[in-house]
Amino acid sequence: MPSRSNCVSFANLGLKEPILRGVLAAGYETPTEIQSNAIPKILAGAELIGLGQTGSGKTAAFGLPMLDKLSGGPPGLRGVIIVPTRELCVQVAENLRVYSQFAGLNVCTAFGGVDIGIQESAFKRGLDIVVACPGRLIDHLERRNISFDQVQMVVLDEADRMLDMGFMPQIRRIFLRLPQERQNLLFSATMPKEVEGLVNDFLPNAERVQIGTRSQSAKTITHRFVAVNAHDKAEALERILARESGRVLVFVNKKLGCEKLGNALKRAGLPADSIHGDKGAEARYSCLQAFSRGKTRFLVATDVAARGIDVDDIELVVNYDFPLGLEDYIHRSGRTGRAGKTGRALSLVAPMEKRLFAVVQAHLQGREIPHEAAPPGRGYGMPKRREGGGRRESGGGGRGRSRGRSAATA
Ligand code: AMP
Repeated sequence: MPSRSNCVSFANLGLKEPILRGVLAAGYETPTEIQSNAIPKILAGAELIGLGQTGSGKTAAFGLPMLDKLSGGPPGLRGVIIVPTRELCVQVAENLRVYSQFAGLNVCTAFGGVDIGIQESAFKRGLDIVVACPGRLIDHLERRNISFDQVQMVVLDEADRMLDMGFMPQIRRIFLRLPQERQNLLFSATMPKEVEGLVNDFLPNAERVQIGTRSQSAKTITHRFVAVNAHDKAEALERILARESGRVLVFVNKKLGCEKLGNALKRAGLPADSIHGDKGAEARYSCLQAFSRGKTRFLVATDVAARGIDVDDIELVVNYDFPLGLEDYIHRSGRTGRAGKTGRALSLVAPMEKRLFAVVQAHLQGREIPHEAAPPGRGYGMPKRREGGGRRESGGGGRGRSRGRSAATA
């Protein structure tokens, strides 16, 4: 885990005994920095904005005090956690169930793409906390499957991603329907101005707990880049993957490119798959399961789809397409180097992406991103003879160059 706090134990933070047993069951020994900062404040009733790096342990930072405060109270929906994706929904709920197993609280999920009746039946069996995506939460409210009357605590997780995914109007609708008397918590890796606007409207007096700044990336991650022509990327990737023995997450900027690159790697016989927003909820879920169980080791993903990936031992993150902004670079690279492990981020930088790269380079805590020698093969890091056609700069493999048996272009 990154940034553990010195000399603080979970017991010192003021958590009740059943919750401490849950923490033990999760295998956590020491609180992370954001946990030791946030937990006592939340227990004391403060409204809070947690600005944490990806993988900073923020789920327990809000989850443990929420469980602590709600345990022992009357049954009924008292805690609402709003997350942007189904994957994150499942992951946060799984974590909360581990932490709450001795506290007798029922944690349910609500996300789209699956039968709403199944979720409704689960609520009827007992519901103290719901972890929900905004659209489905509104559906349940409108069908009166749930009521906000007893809600005391609300968490908005990954607020910046909610914004990216266009959920801000739904979030505002939900907030307007919540009881006036409640404790609000908001977590976000970054604070775009629209999120600041939401904070001003709904959490004006919230305290901020900041772990790092928007331009910081975890120190456990080593950053490298390879200069490569756009049309040589697929082949470069194939060679990079061939020398990896662990899990690799490959980022592309577009859904179509994502699918194509994943298919090309599969056709080349590599244990690869792709995940993006056009895949159905079931397909995305089974893809993530296969990746976390090690059945597929190479996962090609778009930024949005990658939000739900909570796999601690991703050894390498590859930027096949360079991200369009610094924040995406930090989010992407934060998928590795988690839970105390070291990780690597490798970017394939085409000439057209040099400017984007320079922005990241300039902000990355002054740490230079060294150039890495390209794996042996044709045309890496050097200008290449153009073979017909125009330039192809972004978005996935199978990009039409026939170069013998290159797997990713096959
Ligand atoms: P999160 O930022 O909540 O997604 O957490 C990132 C990873 O760190 C997850 O796998 C958590 O289970 C793990 N984690 C969270 N808190 C701790 C802790 N105090 N000690 C060890 N691992 C933790």
